[in-house]
Parts: sequence; structure tokens; C-alpha cells
Amino acid sequence: MTESIGKTNLLGLTQLEMEKFFDSIGEKRFRAGQVMKWIHHYGVDDFDAMSNVGKALREKLKACAEIRGPEVVSEDISSDGTRKWVVRVESGSCVETVYIPQGKRGTLCVSSQAGCALDCSFCSTGKQGFNSNLTAAEVIGQVWIANKSFGSVPATVDRAITNVVMMGMGEPLLNFDNVIAAMHLMMDDMGYGISKRRVTLSTSGVVPMIDELAKHIDVSLALSLHAPNDALRNQLVPINKKYPLKMLLESCRNYMSALGEKRVLTIEYTLLKDINDKVEHAVEMIELLKDTPCKINLIPFNPFPHSGYERPSNNAIRRFQDQLHQAGFNVTVRTTRGEDIDAACGQLVGQVMDRTRRSERYIAVRELSAEADVVQSAAPRN
Ligand code: SF4
Repeated sequence: MTESIGKTNLLGLTQLEMEKFFDSIGEKRFRAGQVMKWIHHYGVDDFDAMSNVGKALREKLKACAEIRGPEVVSEDISSDGTRKWVVRVESGSCVETVYIPQGKRGTLCVSSQAGCALDCSFCSTGKQGFNSNLTAAEVIGQVWIANKSFGSVPATVDRAITNVVMMGMGEPLLNFDNVIAAMHLMMDDMGYGISKRRVTLSTSGVVPMIDELAKHIDVSLALSLHAPNDALRNQLVPINKKYPLKMLLESCRNYMSALGEKRVLTIEYTLLKDINDKVEHAVEMIELLKDTPCKINLIPFNPFPHSGYERPSNNAIRRFQDQLHQAGFNVTVRTTRGEDIDAACGQLVGQVMDRTRRSERYIAVRELSAEADVVQSAAPRN
């Protein structure tokens, strides 16, 4: 990545932040909208291409600002149309972004961190430990890169990306401010204009930040559940030891009711052979979720080397789905996509730079868990 000392990267600025930036350089606020459209609608990273911005202002912007996304290391296209980008971020690590086309819908799965400290036992990202939080520019930069790659210009008219899920590498709620800013840009008409129902934040259960979320943004929420009781979830999703299921589901329900509309929580449940795929697990899940308006997405495990887990048989998957279905739940089974380019759910690894030694990982887990206790006080961005 190129050096940029002292320059403001405009890519990750929300509309309000962009207006403040123009204020700070003695320019009119309306310039914010003009420049944002060039950046997000037209994928422009060169001030000279902004034809409705006068030469003097373009020169001024070149001196103090830049538009810089993550560096694209590779782009692979699967036989089923799924695409995967590997991008290098400021910390030197690489993260992955995946695009899944399905009929008229095109879903972009975006990463929020290089690696992850939460160490879920079945997750390839978690196996690498934590390296760094992505900046807002690096989070929204993944949408920017994908849009440019599709030639979706302007982005709000010819849409390849109809949905975004914060479900790639990392725990988005442990990179709260940057993820919130990027999600505002996803929904802002000056950004990508995606509806709030089509932008989803997926969390493994950082309760204090779920409690904080509704004060800052209105997006769909997904919970990575993966186990129907605390004993098993403690093993599979270790953050559960700190924020157990009762507390977690209450927090999710509060988020949805705070938005004042009828909302449904998406439950993500990775099915692991002989671990959490038995009838008794389905029965426990029915009891656990009986008071939570939700739809359930079952994800048969996508194996990766040395994971120690296996994918259940099709019969076991169907049996589990039927059990939940008969209890009245809306249940889908996620089809594996992009397996030939290692883009399937749970397979994202990127290339996380050092800090992956286990001792450091556990320090990071402790630090981040402690951080999550401190409810962040950032003002809403927009
Ligand atoms: S499942 Fe999510 S929260 Fe858990 S280790 Fe993987 S990336 Fe982190």
C-alpha cells in the first residue's frame, strides 16, 4: 500500500464526517455529497476524475486527502458464480470478502477484523488468532472493490450487491465504531443505498455491544448460536462463558424491540456431526427459542484441514431441520457455495500476520472481553 502520512482517507467517512472534513478545510458542506457520489457511486479514487469539482479544489484535495481502499491481492470466481477477493489491509494481514449470487439477490459477505480473538472451535478464522481491527475505509472498501469489479456504476442503479452481511472474518461488535460507520455508508444514499433490512450484522454474542447497537444504527441482526445449551456453547463459542445464552437472547430481543418494528432475529447454527446435530439438540433449541421471534439458518459444517469436526450426513441435517420445522420455526439449510475457491462459510482464512501464537491469542481474548464490558460512548455517526 502507498504511503499517505498526514492525508485523510475519504473512503471511510460517513456523510456527517465528510461534511466536517470540508468544513475543516474551509469549503462548503455540499461538496461532501458531490465527492461521496464520485467515490461510492462511481468507484473513483482520483480527484482529477471528479468533473464537477473545480480544479482549485481538486488540487487542494490532492494535497490533504486521498481515497484509498485495501489492496486487492487476488480475485477468484467459483464455478457456481461465487467470487472471493483477498485484500491486504494496513496492518499487513489479508482478509477475505465473498460475493454469493442467488437469483436476483447478490450477497456480499464482509470481514471486520484481520483474524479473530474469540476462538470458536469450529472456525478457520478463529484458528489464526487476532491481528487487527479493520478501519472504516477497509470495511466499506470491500464493498467499494466488489462494486468496481462488477462495473456496477452508478452503484445505486445497476446493483450487483443487493445485500451485505457482516459475517466474514472477525467479530464485528469488537470493532464497533468502524463497523457502524461502514454500515451507515452501506445504507446511505450517498453511499450504496442498500435498505436496512438487507444489511445484517452477525455476532457471536458480545452482549454489552448488542445492548449499545440500537442507539447507533438500525440493521438486521444475526446471532451465531451453534449450540442449544450453555455447556456445549461454552465449548464451541467460548465467549458464551462470559455472556451465557439467557443473557444473550434477552439482549437480542431488546435490540429488536428497541427498533420499534416487528423484527426477526436470524439464528445461524453450524451443524457439526455428533456434536450438536442430534434430535435432543433440536428439542433443546425449540425450548430455548420459543420466546424469540426468529428464523433459523442451518449451516452444515464445511470442513477445513485439522478442524477436528465433520459435516453431518444429509439424513441428519434433514432430521434436524424437520424437527424445528414441525415446532413452527422457519428453517433453511444453507447451500454450500464457492467450495472450489475456499469461499464457503467458515472457511475464510485470509493471511493473518503474526500475533497468532496461542499465548498472545489468549491475552487478546482477555483484553477484548474486558473491552466489551466498557460500553463505548461514541456519538452516532449519522
Ligand atoms: S465464528 Fe466468528 S466470532 Fe467465532 S472465531 Fe470465527 S470469526 Fe470469530
